[in-house]
Amino acid sequence: MNKKIWISSPHLSGNEIKYIQDAFNENWVTNIGENIDCFELDLKSYLGTAQEVVALNSCTSALHLALVQCGVGYGDEVICQSLTFSASANPILYQGAIPVFVDSEVDTWNICPKFLEEAIKDRIRNGKKPKAIIAVHLYGTPFKVDEVLEVANRYGIPIIEDAAAALGSSFKGQKCGTFGRFGTLSFNGNKIITTSGGGALICRSEEDKKKAIFLATQARDDAPHYQHSEIGYNYKMSNISAGIGRGQMEVLAKHISLRKNMNAFYCDIFSKVDGVTVFKILDENYYSNSWLSTILIDPSRNKGKTREDFRLFLVAQNIESRPLFKPMHLQPIFERYPYYGGDVAATLFEKGLCLPSGSNLTDEDRDRLKSAIHKFF
Ligand SMILES: *Cc1c(COP(=O)(O)O)cnc(C)c1O
Repeated sequence: MNKKIWISSPHLSGNEIKYIQDAFNENWVTNIGENIDCFELDLKSYLGTAQEVVALNSCTSALHLALVQCGVGYGDEVICQSLTFSASANPILYQGAIPVFVDSEVDTWNICPKFLEEAIKDRIRNGKKPKAIIAVHLYGTPFKVDEVLEVANRYGIPIIEDAAAALGSSFKGQKCGTFGRFGTLSFNGNKIITTSGGGALICRSEEDKKKAIFLATQARDDAPHYQHSEIGYNYKMSNISAGIGRGQMEVLAKHISLRKNMNAFYCDIFSKVDGVTVFKILDENYYSNSWLSTILIDPSRNKGKTREDFRLFLVAQNIESRPLFKPMHLQPIFERYPYYGGDVAATLFEKGLCLPSGSNLTDEDRDRLKSAIHKFF
C-alpha cells in the first residue's frame, strides 16, 4: 500500500526540540516559563499591532474565555457563522447561552453581512440583543472584515474572531485575529503551525490579558490560601508545547509559501477540468495563508460525478480528503437553534471538498495526486 497522503499533518522545523530541551534543562516543565513568554512575544510581534497574546491549551479554550470576557452568560444569545467547525459554537453552550446561526456569502464562504444584520434586527425585535458575534476566517480566508465590522459596530456588538486556521492571513495588510474585541488562534496538529495541540487568545489590552490568565489558571483571588470568587478554568499552554511553538514560528513564512505552492498546483490541474473550481480569494485586499486548498464539484458538468464519488476514489488510493464543514444549523446538536440565511452553506457542504494541502507534501505525493485527479475526471 502507498503511504497515506494526509490533508494537513504536522511539519516540524527541527528546532522545536532545542526549546523543549531548554525547558527540561531548567526544569520549567509546567505551564509557566521562558518558552511561553517568548512564544507569546513572537506571536505579538508577528501580528504587528498593539495586541496582547495569551498562549492557551486550545483555540476552543480561547473562544470560551473570549465569551466569558464578553460577559456571555446563561440565556444570552450569541451569533455564530454556521459554516465552521463545531469548536466555534460549542463554547456558546458551555456558557449556557443560545447560538444563533448565520449563513455564509459566496465570495469568502464566511459570515454573510446581510443575513448578519437581519439576524441582529430580528433578535432585537424578539427582545434580546445578541451579546457577541463569532466570525470565522474559514480555511484561512479572511471574512468580509469591513462589512462585518460595520454591522457589528452599528449595533454595538463585540466580534470574536475565530482565526484558528488563519494565522498569517490578512485583510488590507492587517493580520486576521486583530480586528475584533478578541481573536483566537489554533496550534492543533493539522493547522499551519502546531504546538501538538494549543491555541492563543489575542487581546486588545494588558488588562484583558491579565483577566484571561486569571480565568485560565483557576481564577485564584489574591490571597495566601486558595480563595475563589469566580469560576476558573485550567486552560494555559504548557511550557513544553510553547517550545514547539517557538520552533514553528521560525518556519511559519515558509509553511505559508509551501501551502501557496500546493494551491497553485491544484489551480493548474483543475484549470483543465470542466465542472471543478478551486476556491480563490476575492481580490488583493484579501490575503490567505492557503491553509487548505478546497474545490467545488458540479456533478451536472461532470457526468453526474459528485464530491463524494471523488472522495471515495481518493480513499481507495490512500489519499485523505474531506467534505467542507457540515453547517452547524444542520447538525443534530444545534439544529433546534435559530438560523438566518438561505442555502449557501448547505450547498457548499454538498459540493465542496478539502484536498491534501500540507507544507510537507513531496513531489512524489504531488505526482500521485495529479494522476489520481486525471484518472477520476
Ligand atoms: C481547528 C479549529 C478550531 C479548534 O481549534 P482547537 O485548537 O483544536 O481547539 C476552531 N475553529 C476552527 C475554524 C478551526 O479550524
